[in-house]
Amino acid sequence: MAMKIVVAECTVCGSCEFVCPTKAIKVKDDIYSIDPTKCKECVGFFDSPQCVAECPADCIVQAA
Ligand code: SF4
Ligand code: SF4
Repeated sequence: MAMKIVVAECTVCGSCEFVCPTKAIKVKDDIYSIDPTKCKECVGFFDSPQCVAECPADCIVQAA
């Protein structure tokens, strides 16, 4: 399982990128995305997804 960014709601603030323990969050052409092969939902690192807690736009959700 992984998290994903709802791009339409992302303000490109950059806050999430630096809290990810697995470096799953990348920005390219001003669009942030989460690599589902790298995102571990912070399991083993933190009690909850750190990017979700950090995102001021509340636009990081569970990937379907
Ligand atoms: S849930 Fe954790 S591992 Fe996944 S992208 Fe967010 S900060 Fe990174
Ligand atoms: S913290 Fe949220 S609003 Fe900021 S870049 Fe990440 S997904 Fe976008």
